[in-house]
Amino acid sequence: MPQGSTRLPLKETSQEANSVSPLSDETRKAIVSLRQVHKAYKNGFNALTDINLEIQSGDFLFVTGPSGSGKSTFLKLLYGEERATAGDVMVNGLNVGGLKGDRLAALRRRIGIVFQDYKLIPRRTVAENVAFVLWAQGYGRQEIQRRLPPALKMVGLQHKADSFPDELSGGEQQRASIARAIVSTPPLVLADEPTGNLDADNSWQVIKILKKLHAIGITVIVTTHDESLIRLSNHPVVQIRNGHLYRPQPK
Ligand code: ADP
Repeated sequence: MPQGSTRLPLKETSQEANSVSPLSDETRKAIVSLRQVHKAYKNGFNALTDINLEIQSGDFLFVTGPSGSGKSTFLKLLYGEERATAGDVMVNGLNVGGLKGDRLAALRRRIGIVFQDYKLIPRRTVAENVAFVLWAQGYGRQEIQRRLPPALKMVGLQHKADSFPDELSGGEQQRASIARAIVSTPPLVLADEPTGNLDADNSWQVIKILKKLHAIGITVIVTTHDESLIRLSNHPVVQIRNGHLYRPQPK
């Protein structure tokens, strides 16, 4: 299928999508919209070409494709780590390409980001790693104390609050990083190969947590090259191959 405008969700192909309103539902808004987006890196490499995609608030979307195909670049455009060379990248109603400084920081505070390598601070406990995000955003002590327990509970790590990252398994570290991503209750969570370093069991645990976030109304976008997770999850999927976006035909 050629690249082009891709609309979600795929209601007819997904049981889970039954809980999601169809696209025609005017009450749901696009939380992410890319129009004719191109991304060339400074060395001239074309990482993404003519990307058109709309993701509705409350969707769960997998972005799949081989390593080096442009998945991380796609997410980086959404949280403003990279800028599109051409086209519009809209997130939460804002044109990301036009944001700098405080306005870009404000957008990022509304996005939870989960990385393949967790990016936890090694000399801080799980609780401190999660609290740090709130502290950096100016939350007071009381509010931090209020928000920590539900975030840790969501990922099943209450009992590891005082552990340091090197005392945790890879799966637990990733769950801690998810707690950190959601503790400020962002409407959008981006997960870049969150299961890339995990075995099958831990991968599935991580996906189940992301599905829980989706179930409470958070929009979740997950990049992965793990086709088995996609098959198990039954969520809409788009593919990026050689910088082009495709919507796979339902099997
Ligand atoms: P994926 O996440 O699918 O593995 P990436 O988005 O990381 O792919 O990379 C897509 C392509 O862009 C790759 O060929 C990669 O080498 C290239 N690329 C990524 N970052 C840069 C950069 N900063 N400068 C030049 N090329 C880059």
